[in-house]
Amino acid sequence: MLGLKNRMETVAQKAVSDVLAESGHCACQRCHDDTMALVLNQLPSRYYRASSDPAVEADELEARYLPQARSLADEAAVTVHKAPRHDTDESYQLMNYSVQIVESSFADILPLTKACLCAVCVADMVSYALDQLDCKYVCTTRGAAFTQLEELRAEPDPHRLSVFFQAIAYVNRNRRHKQDVEQNPIAEQNENQSTRH
Ligand SMILES: [Zn+2]
Ligand SMILES: [Zn+2]
Repeated sequence: MLGLKNRMETVAQKAVSDVLAESGHCACQRCHDDTMALVLNQLPSRYYRASSDPAVEADELEARYLPQARSLADEAAVTVHKAPRHDTDESYQLMNYSVQIVESSFADILPLTKACLCAVCVADMVSYALDQLDCKYVCTTRGAAFTQLEELRAEPDPHRLSVFFQAIAYVNRNRRHKQDVEQNPIAEQNENQSTRH
């Protein structure tokens, strides 16, 4: 788990809350999250590392995608309203399966490549790949999630694979880690000494 977050969730959240309040449809947590899943699967994703990234780009993203998110939420709210699932008390989680698929695929692929395996580079590669692939948001129980994950992993998907290699190449060209410090301990020492003066 790399602790990645999709900035688009904030935009969808806002759109869904507004639409449910205005339409008078049930706004319970389950109906809200089911509507969120439908909306998010039709929007592009913008993943980033929750621990490191400042909230840049959020306003820009909202300005650009909120109108689209609202019209998707209008349709999604009607779909959920027709077949609400709030009567079951199963515990569930709103999650994007693609995150698990991409993280576990990279764990298999990366050791076979010359890609840098530091936390910064791996998170950048996974985020890059996620933003190129479709989201698979669902509200489901944990057990069901893992069953479906296995199914999804079993199918060969050339498009997904080509996105993974694009991600590796992209991060290789645009490394954001402190290369000298990480790969050359002597450079780190010198840097420390010079800052002490
Ligand atoms: Zn409800
Ligand atoms: Zn790195």
